[in-house]
Amino acid sequence: MREEPQHEEGAVAASPVMHLDAFIALGESLFGSDKGLWAFVCPVCGHVATTNDYLLLGAPTNSVGFSCIGLWMEEDLVEELRRNGNGPCRYAPSDALNLNPLHVDIRGHVGRFFDFYQVSTGADACKDG
Ligand SMILES: [Zn+2]
Repeated sequence: MREEPQHEEGAVAASPVMHLDAFIALGESLFGSDKGLWAFVCPVCGHVATTNDYLLLGAPTNSVGFSCIGLWMEEDLVEELRRNGNGPCRYAPSDALNLNPLHVDIRGHVGRFFDFYQVSTGADACKDG
């Protein structure tokens, strides 16, 4: 059995396009220059994962901050983690449905990414079970 990700309608503000340099500067200001430590929030389930988390699961680098990390986990593990709240899920953006909020200009092509995890807005994401 598999649940569909929950899609929230409305409140879709047109996001300004951020230049790649600004995106990198923002990441570095939050997490430092080691991109392995950069943390992203899935826009569907709210799960927070770092670049290193993705790579440890064998996810391709172009999936980091783009598709939910649950895609690279065993389904049983996803189910178990979800029981504790905060995802993960199996969200992957498509042409028909892309909820990724950060629009980034990468050499003339606009890529869409998850928001960075920000401690000030995600204080309850790291409480112990
Ligand atoms: Zn997710």
